[in-house]
Amino acid sequence: MTGSLDRQKVAAARLWAATHYPYLASALFASRVIPTPGTNAVAVDDRWNLYVDPDLVGQWTIEGIGGVLVHHTGHLLRDHAGRARALGVDRKTAKEWTLAADAEINDDLDEDLDVPGTPVTPEALGLEAGRLAEEYFRRLLEHDHDQECECGSGADGQPRDWDQGGPGVSKNSAHLLRCQVASEILREFRGKEPGAMPMSFVRWAEEFLNPRIDWRRLLAAEIRRGIANVSGKVDYTYTRPSRRASVTKEFILPSLRKPIPDVAVVVDTSGSMSEKQLGQVLAEVEGLLRSVGLGKQRLRVLSFDADAHTVQRVSSAKQVELIGGGGTNMGEGIRKALQLRPRPGVVIVLTDGYTPWPSEAPRGAQVIVGLIGNGDWPVPGWAKVVRIEEEAA
Ligand SMILES: [Zn+2]
Repeated sequence: MTGSLDRQKVAAARLWAATHYPYLASALFASRVIPTPGTNAVAVDDRWNLYVDPDLVGQWTIEGIGGVLVHHTGHLLRDHAGRARALGVDRKTAKEWTLAADAEINDDLDEDLDVPGTPVTPEALGLEAGRLAEEYFRRLLEHDHDQECECGSGADGQPRDWDQGGPGVSKNSAHLLRCQVASEILREFRGKEPGAMPMSFVRWAEEFLNPRIDWRRLLAAEIRRGIANVSGKVDYTYTRPSRRASVTKEFILPSLRKPIPDVAVVVDTSGSMSEKQLGQVLAEVEGLLRSVGLGKQRLRVLSFDADAHTVQRVSSAKQVELIGGGGTNMGEGIRKALQLRPRPGVVIVLTDGYTPWPSEAPRGAQVIVGLIGNGDWPVPGWAKVVRIEEEAA
C-alpha cells in the first residue's frame, strides 16, 4: 500500500550522497523532492525535480537511495534529456537511450555505489567502457534488450504524466550548476590519486569546461583564411596600379590571377616537444596545405630552436629532419622564415608556446600558431592561435 513519504529518509540519503560526493553537493541539493505514489520509481525530470515513490523509499536503504540520487545527478549534469531530444529519441527508442545514458554514467561509478537492482554498465551491455551515450545508443538499437530502467524524463526527454511537477531549475540555472559542479569535480580531482574518485565524472567535467573542437578543422580554417587574406592583398595591389607602376614600364601584369601565397612552417624543436609529436602535427599540416591547393614544392619547413638550423624546401613532411634542442625563440624563427625567397605570405609556427615572441605583427604576412600541448604561455594577439590537443594514446 502506498504510505506517506518518509522525507527524513530522503534527506538522510541526500546527506549521505553529499558527504560521499561533496563535489556534487550543489547539484544534489538543487532538486525539489516530489512524492509520486504508485510510480515504482525514483526519477528526475529535465528541470531537476526529483520524483520519489514513497513505497520505494520505504524499501530501500539510505545508501541505496543516496546512490540513486548520485546516479540521477549524472543524468542531469550530462543533460541526457537534451541530448536525447537532439538525437531524435522518441517513446519507441527511449528504453535504449536510457540504457545507453545509464551505461555512460555507471561506467566506473557502479563500483562505488550500492544501488538497488542491477546497474546498467557498458560491460553488462557488452560494450566498451568510456564512450558516450550516443555511441552506446546506436549499438543498442541493433539488438533487443530485456533490461529496463526508469530514470525519468530527465534521462530520456520523454515527459511522463506524473512528472509535471512545476518549474524547477531553469535552463540558465542548470548551466550555472553544471559549471559550478564541473569546477568542483576538477578541484577535487587535482588533490587526489587517480582512481580515488569516479573518472566518469572527471571526464565529464573536463569535457564540459573544455569542449574539444577538432584542431584540424580550426587549423584548416585559419590556413584558408590566411591564404585568402594574403592573396586578397596581392589582388588588391594588382587592381590598382601603384605610383611605382606608372613610372616603371616593365611593371606589366599579364592578368589578375590570384596567386596562392607561399607558406613556410617554423617548427619549434626545443626539448619540451617530442619528435614524434612534431612529426604527426607536421604531417597533418602538410595534408591541410595540400587540401587548400598548395603544391608540395611550396612548403618550406624551418626547424628551429636558438638558431634556425635548417631551411628546407621539402616535398614531404616525412623528409624533414628535425634537429635542434635547447632554448627557443619563435620570433627569430618567424624573422628567418620571412627572409626566404620567395617571401612566404603565411607562416605557420608549431610550438609548445614556451618562447619569446615579437611584440609587433610581422608586416605583410599572416602568422598562424599551432600551440601543441597544454602549456599556458601567452601568445601575442596578432597571431591566430589554434590549440593542438595531444592525441590520446
Ligand atoms: Zn539512469
